[in-house]
Amino acid sequence: MQLGHLPRVPLAVRPTPLQEASRLSAYLGGPRILIKRDDLTGLALGGNKARKLELLLGEARAQGADVIITVGAMQSNHARMTAAAARLLGWEAILVLSGEEPAEAQGNLLLDRILGAEVRLINTTEEYVLMGVVQDLARELTGRGRRPYLIPRGGSTGLGAAAYLEAGLEAFAQLNALGVRADAIVHASTSGGTQSGLLTAAKWSRAGASVVGISAGPPAATVTQRVTGIVRDLGRVVGTEWEVHPEDVLVYDDYVGEGYGIPTLGTIEAIKMVARTEGILLDPVYTGKAMAGLIDLVRRRTFARGQTVLFWHTGGVPALFAHAQTLGGPD
Ligand SMILES: *Cc1c(COP(=O)(O)O)cnc(C)c1O
Repeated sequence: MQLGHLPRVPLAVRPTPLQEASRLSAYLGGPRILIKRDDLTGLALGGNKARKLELLLGEARAQGADVIITVGAMQSNHARMTAAAARLLGWEAILVLSGEEPAEAQGNLLLDRILGAEVRLINTTEEYVLMGVVQDLARELTGRGRRPYLIPRGGSTGLGAAAYLEAGLEAFAQLNALGVRADAIVHASTSGGTQSGLLTAAKWSRAGASVVGISAGPPAATVTQRVTGIVRDLGRVVGTEWEVHPEDVLVYDDYVGEGYGIPTLGTIEAIKMVARTEGILLDPVYTGKAMAGLIDLVRRRTFARGQTVLFWHTGGVPALFAHAQTLGGPD
């Protein structure tokens, strides 16, 4: 397995802290819980996309790109961090986001505008419509002599996932240094890059930890299918043949509720619980749902006292400010 040869631009603060969450653990009467703070990767308020962008934009630079195009939801963390990374490199970013212009730009959209990204809001939820806009833009830019580099949703390619293979190895080294063996890693999963990387890290290092993805939107079968495909591509990136069978990919879609971006009661409970026991902020779209999943799995005794769970904080905190109506009232 080879990672060192991949072109990279330094964007993320690494390693991120691994933090003991003993008050949360005691509150739940459950397993030992450690939190991997990838909300602290830097790059305009942090999150998991900073690591992926190091490798994706490394490839973009090697290809001579001068403008980055990506797609996402209106509150996309990936789009916001892409906008910041492009600025750091002196490039432009064009963000093709689904949604209608809101009365007030909040959260990530506000940050996109501050970063001066070109935001194209497209009122559709259909992926093919968004991809059509992206393809047209790329053709038009190329025609004008520009060098666009396209990043798919969430940066979840084999190359993007390689950053999470590396991140997984970083966490296992931190756990080893503490003399701790994790039984499971629990994290929010959607486009599948994070889970693909962490799953590969766990298997490759024989760490014995199961990797549990909590979907923030798509059905479990969709996430699983993405992960099996990305793991294969990741193998190609690092010069290894990797195959993961769907039955080895663990994804729960029980905590999605009404849909992507809509917090459940469990999400709100989880955000307040972690804020009030640990002083750590989760987000309403991804990590709040993932923590709601972990809390439920502890209550169901899937994870019990005596075990150790690593909760991977993947960021997303700016979206809190787009959910003041849900979270801002008195208890
Ligand atoms: C993108 C994102 C995820 C999901 O990661 P994938 O690699 O796309 O599955 C989780 N949490 C946050 C905060 C994100 O922005």
